[in-house]
Amino acid sequence: MSTATPPATRKPMPSALTFDLHAKCSTTKARASTLRLPHGDVPLPIFMPVATQASLKGLTYDQLRQTGCQLCLNNTYHLGLKPGQAVLDAVGGAHKLQGWDRNILTDSGGFQMVSLLKLATVTEEGVRFLSPHDGTPMLLTPEHSISLQNSIGSDIIMQLDDVIATTSPDQARIHEAMERSVRWLDRCIDAHKYPERQNLFCIIQGGLDLEMRKQCCEEMVARDTPGIAIGGLSGGEAKEDFCKVVDTCTGLLPEKKPRYVMGVGYPEDLIMGVALGADMFDCVWPTRTARFGNAVVPTGTLNLRHRSFAEDFRPVQEGCTCSICLPKEQGGLGITRAYLHHLAAKETVGAHLLTMHNVHYLLSLMGSARQAIIEDRFPAFLRDFFKNLYGEKTNYPEWVVTALRGNYNNMSPSAETLPTQESTPQPTTTTTTTPQEPIPHDPTHEEHQYLNLIRRILSEGEHRPDRTGTGTRSIFAPPQMRFSLSKPSTNTTTGIKEYAPILPLLTTKRVFLRAVLAELLWFISGTTSSLPLSEAGIKIWDGNGSREYLDKVGLSHREVGDLGPVYGFQWRHFGAEYVDAKTDYSGQGVDQLAEVVKKLKENPFDRRIIMSAWNPKDMRIMALPPCHMFAQFYVRFPDAKRDEEGVVRDGEWGRGHLDCLLYQRSADMGLGVPFNIASYALLTHLLAHAVDMVPGTLVHTLGDAHVYLDHVDALKEQIEREPVAFPEVRIKREDRGSGVVDGWKEEEFEVIGYKPHKAIKMKMSV
Ligand SMILES: [Zn+2]
Repeated sequence: MSTATPPATRKPMPSALTFDLHAKCSTTKARASTLRLPHGDVPLPIFMPVATQASLKGLTYDQLRQTGCQLCLNNTYHLGLKPGQAVLDAVGGAHKLQGWDRNILTDSGGFQMVSLLKLATVTEEGVRFLSPHDGTPMLLTPEHSISLQNSIGSDIIMQLDDVIATTSPDQARIHEAMERSVRWLDRCIDAHKYPERQNLFCIIQGGLDLEMRKQCCEEMVARDTPGIAIGGLSGGEAKEDFCKVVDTCTGLLPEKKPRYVMGVGYPEDLIMGVALGADMFDCVWPTRTARFGNAVVPTGTLNLRHRSFAEDFRPVQEGCTCSICLPKEQGGLGITRAYLHHLAAKETVGAHLLTMHNVHYLLSLMGSARQAIIEDRFPAFLRDFFKNLYGEKTNYPEWVVTALRGNYNNMSPSAETLPTQESTPQPTTTTTTTPQEPIPHDPTHEEHQYLNLIRRILSEGEHRPDRTGTGTRSIFAPPQMRFSLSKPSTNTTTGIKEYAPILPLLTTKRVFLRAVLAELLWFISGTTSSLPLSEAGIKIWDGNGSREYLDKVGLSHREVGDLGPVYGFQWRHFGAEYVDAKTDYSGQGVDQLAEVVKKLKENPFDRRIIMSAWNPKDMRIMALPPCHMFAQFYVRFPDAKRDEEGVVRDGEWGRGHLDCLLYQRSADMGLGVPFNIASYALLTHLLAHAVDMVPGTLVHTLGDAHVYLDHVDALKEQIEREPVAFPEVRIKREDRGSGVVDGWKEEEFEVIGYKPHKAIKMKMSV
């Protein structure tokens, strides 16, 4: 390949960005990350609106800010003409000129010239064209493009590339353009004056020829620019080709760099681009189409100029939170379709309002995709998105079906991803030579919530000191994890719905089940000495009950093992005066656990079915304040027989389903959390047995979710593992519905089918 300087001899390039990868979809190639740029953090994936001539058509920068936009696009070509480089230099760049304190990305100007100016010709030197003002011959070189972008001061600048329409039949010309783009990248790198504050992105070219794209990826990646763009697409190529090119390129690009697909703006293209592993997109379409009266909504576009909207007094999009759609009572403008219909034909304000909505729609679509990726439910998100857009399965365009079926590298969707599949078997996993049976990947497995949260903490977590002196990586209040405590099935002989009780005992590492169970029963007994547990071989509280530790926290007067009024005491004797672990507290304080059982039996609709271990009065006399501090219970009746209004008929409620919401203020992801999940799942099972209900869902809310630094390596090993099915748990007691929660024994719980990966050693920080 004829490139200018072999990359090995080039000096390394500085970067003015940080790319933090938080989560990867376990089915598609979608990723969620944060791009930290000089003018603030940008959540990815993102759609970047185009602000032509330093003003988004119809929007002020204040309004653009209101849409939540963190990064917008400016055109170098337009800024270079007006106000021109001298003014930009005098003012100190486009941020100051425009009063925009967030991030800007500028294109190189080349595409604008080629697309706007018919007379442009490309030579090795640069793009030659005639000035649209006075017809004088001009030349845009890579050096000039970078110099202009340096004057603009944009946070991301693009290399000048040689752009050929992907639909061009001239393969030789496409090849030439691809190689020239690499040579021009070298010239751009050499010309770039401010790599420490502006990030230069290369642009992968190569038309629709995947081999050429691969070659180009290899060359460009070797230049190590802070970010990478895939160019030359959305020029009218077939969607299948678009998908193949994006998929091929993302498969070859480094994971730790942002990937930008240029010129893409249709919602379905954005979502497909995300599924194929791209992070950033831009397009003038959403703003341009607004000027024609088109609103972008989940079902497609609405042309509000159409007569049918004349008396449609709904917002542009029901439930949209943009300032146009939001009702007046909620601080929005409460604009109706009818009003926009009235304006659309003649008033620019109509275009302006629709632009606000359209930009907001695409930004929030990307935001929802991001959240879905973080929570590892992106396949379901994809399914809903395409269902909204196309409705019936038969309406799905072929390219969507093909792309989702995963005919491309690395994308091996499960049946869940496919909106159109009719249980077509996937032939991809039939040939395996590994000695051991590989564990099939199931993206719907609830354990992925835990694994993804660890991934996110490892990449995004803030490094902080902690009470134990070990140090952690931490994030605050991640999305809740939800674990099903039963699996419904229908008895084939009786036709009655049954529920198999499930224990979410994590499987990517063996959880010490006996300890979980023993500790839970110890809590329930109200005991506050660690000695009985220790004697039973459960040493988890020994550290906090040791002489040294008690002395250290000012409890020297306590006997060894006396932990003070910790969990069990608060559950059973909240408010009683604590003396020591030996005192009999019968009848003292509030028995919260008994209250819970009473309410579940007598008034399952009670909104105060709560158990709190957090008692500020007792905090100083506890060896350790509670981490899992608060539980609320809730009873659902999903099997009730209801009429059309949803009212239950003839008292046929069916059995209640018992849900538990656990609040944990401090969560040690490595050792503690697997334990806590199992513990509250078992508690819910126990309560469901005592009050004869179906175990429902455990919802786990975390405050400070952290990984101890000395657990990092072990957890990195664990997150590589595939979870297997959670076990069932059977309760071997005859007193279902008796309300009895005291005196239970470990042997009364039978856990069936727990086949975890092997244990991983982790040290407990005391
Ligand atoms: Zn809206």
